[in-house]
Amino acid sequence: MLAAPADVRARLLAWYRSHRRDLPWRAVRDPYAIWVSEIMLQQTRVETVIPYYERFLSRWPTVGDLAAADPDDVRAAWSGLGYYRRAKLMMDAAKAVVDEHAGRFPDDLEALLALPGFGRYTAGAVASIAFDAPAPAVDGNVARVLARLAGIRGDITRGSPQRAVWDLAETLAPGESPREHTQALIELGALVCGARRPKCLLCPVSDACVAHAEGLTAVVPEPRKKPARRSVELTALLWCTSGQVLLAKQGDDGLFAGLWTPPMLEGALTADEARREVARHRDWRANGAEDMGTMKHVLTHRDLHVRLVRLIGDLPAVSPPYRRAPLSALETLGLPSLAVKALRKGLRPEDLSELALPGRRTSRRS
Ligand code: SF4
Repeated sequence: MLAAPADVRARLLAWYRSHRRDLPWRAVRDPYAIWVSEIMLQQTRVETVIPYYERFLSRWPTVGDLAAADPDDVRAAWSGLGYYRRAKLMMDAAKAVVDEHAGRFPDDLEALLALPGFGRYTAGAVASIAFDAPAPAVDGNVARVLARLAGIRGDITRGSPQRAVWDLAETLAPGESPREHTQALIELGALVCGARRPKCLLCPVSDACVAHAEGLTAVVPEPRKKPARRSVELTALLWCTSGQVLLAKQGDDGLFAGLWTPPMLEGALTADEARREVARHRDWRANGAEDMGTMKHVLTHRDLHVRLVRLIGDLPAVSPPYRRAPLSALETLGLPSLAVKALRKGLRPEDLSELALPGRRTSRRS
């Protein structure tokens, strides 16, 4: 248990007011803008998010604009941020806000939780930061801070340790300025109480912290057992003629939900095998095929080993989920970084000169 929670809360608030970073979403109270920032910040660094956030809001300034947007445009704006299902869930939630709440975000926690893609953290963050409601919001950073403060042992991502973290968050939530309190916990986790080597000497609540007092900061929270990484072999088909490249739209539930990539085949195929495979299954006739080497692409739990095969000859006539896309317009499509890397590595120099592609993916909120 945490001793003197009201005192801890007051000191956190005072520290936040003098140490907080000046971030664009901190200047607004609009629940839509706050929600956009919260979704973008999941698994993604602050400095990566800022330009995406600003571009996104200038293109779709209201939830109604997002609900009416072309999904391909939204995916393209998301390109480079990774975790692409977020973009689809955002569109679904925007439509629900428009259809069920007349275009205004509900200020009630239960109603927020009912929106697509809103978990307990997102609902709590929007309720507290936008509406100043005393709602707890526990993401990975906040869970780490609270677990250390109260010395909560065990795996805080499940079971009774997780409940203990949320209970403590609920205890701390009511009081002066819930919107600043939520951000103070997030900020302490980002700037002071980091996963490795927390800066306890700079911490405003160090004298109340159980993990610090007992020398447990290396084991609280309990280091997570990393799930076994899976190795996946794929073959990417790079087929480009007369300034156009063949792309495939990935299924909504796959790794690159709803995004455009070069067509992919399972397994590591040689150039001849890949050419025969597309002739058999798609009736696409290439004049030749060339092996362009392999590349490794690392995702959270998977290592993708991608063999690149360039197909030679005129592009075939295609229908959805395939399309022929101008190289000069790829920026306007939602291309994940895997596709960007494959095209850069596998296309001929004369094709590359026409290529217009977006930036790259990063990870980790801090
Ligand atoms: S004293 Fe150290 S471990 Fe405890 S909350 Fe502060 S930074 Fe984290």
